[in-house]
Amino acid sequence: MEQIGWGLGASLTLASLPAMARERAGVMDNKKLNIALCGLGRYANVLKGGLAASQSCRLAGIVTGTPTKAAQWQSEFRIPDKNSYTYQNFDQIVSNPDIDLVYITLPNGLHKEFTLRAAKAGKHVIVEKPMAFTEKDCQEMIDACRKAGVQLAVGYRLHYDPHHIELKRLGQHKVFGQVRLIEASLGYRLAGIPPDDWHLKKAIAGGGPLMNLGVYCVQSSRYVLGEEPVAVTAQFGPVTMPDLFKEVEENITWQLYFPSGAICTSSCTSNCNVDRFYASADEGYFELQPALSYGPFKGRTSQAAFNFPVVNQQAAQLDDIARHILANKPLPAHISGEEGRKDMRVIEGIYQAATSGQKVDLTS
Ligand code: NDP
Repeated sequence: MEQIGWGLGASLTLASLPAMARERAGVMDNKKLNIALCGLGRYANVLKGGLAASQSCRLAGIVTGTPTKAAQWQSEFRIPDKNSYTYQNFDQIVSNPDIDLVYITLPNGLHKEFTLRAAKAGKHVIVEKPMAFTEKDCQEMIDACRKAGVQLAVGYRLHYDPHHIELKRLGQHKVFGQVRLIEASLGYRLAGIPPDDWHLKKAIAGGGPLMNLGVYCVQSSRYVLGEEPVAVTAQFGPVTMPDLFKEVEENITWQLYFPSGAICTSSCTSNCNVDRFYASADEGYFELQPALSYGPFKGRTSQAAFNFPVVNQQAAQLDDIARHILANKPLPAHISGEEGRKDMRVIEGIYQAATSGQKVDLTS
């Protein structure tokens, strides 16, 4: 995949990988990457399709707290009992050579704990977004994986969609000149969600739509501009469903300020459906709508429509990660833990700005 002006966090080299990882990679030559999915909910079910379409990965294990799911997944994927774990006995995975990587699809508040446990067990990790609740937690996860000699990726599927690769090209190559303004928003109406759903509980969700969806808006503005934001202002929106939104925000809007002078304004919401990206540059515009979901996406510039064949984002993501790990190469920077850390720094700043009503400096 083309990487233009996006030299973020590429400090890990093959030589810098600890010996344990290099040896493991040697053992894994000529085989598929064996993955254990941890938390068998909605997104794990989406990943089933990605795993089925993947060339380089195999679903080799599961981690679940629900015995009926264990039975069903074991039967569907012929997973032996020895590769089926609960959250309680998960640490025993350390002595299971059938599993190379743990893919964490648990609620947000469990991402850090299970990343640390998987790393301690010597397994590579893919952790879903948001990586954690704070930049500090992300750093702990990065450090733990580095110390254990395992690789850490965040489930940033959009980097594998050709429409987003095109957005990066248009923005970073300044095809329409300097981008001045980006609008990137994502939201889903959550009416009808049970009031006890974890997405509404601060302790396990970490926040509302910003925590669940915000990384897509933050990421797209960062990779289209190829810059890091220097400051942020933000505002919480009104609560229209007070029975549901007691602990986390229902709506939030923010503005990111970039060194070039570009501004990105975004909303994440749980009270309406929105899924769009728009960039206005000196000599034209480019946009996607839908833009940040699973697609299919529709692109347009000030000159013409652009559309690429639909890809299975999850299969492409899994295959790229597998190819890197199997070849003992460091994962691409754009899906690394370092990338997740940078996003969480911005998200923390957005919450700080909305809570304080002040412009928050992101440079220090
Ligand atoms: P679900 O609620 O559908 O699934 C989470 C699963 O985690 C549950 O089914 C359960 O599986 C397990 N679990 C363990 N402890 C708990 C707990 N205390 N409360 C609830 N569930 C628990 O969530 P999603 O699959 O929608 O989301 C999981 C993660 O994936 C989130 O971090 C989310 O942000 C991310 N995600 C990423 C997407 C992407 O496009 N990259 C899209 C959607 C979600 P079990 O019964 O097996 O124990």
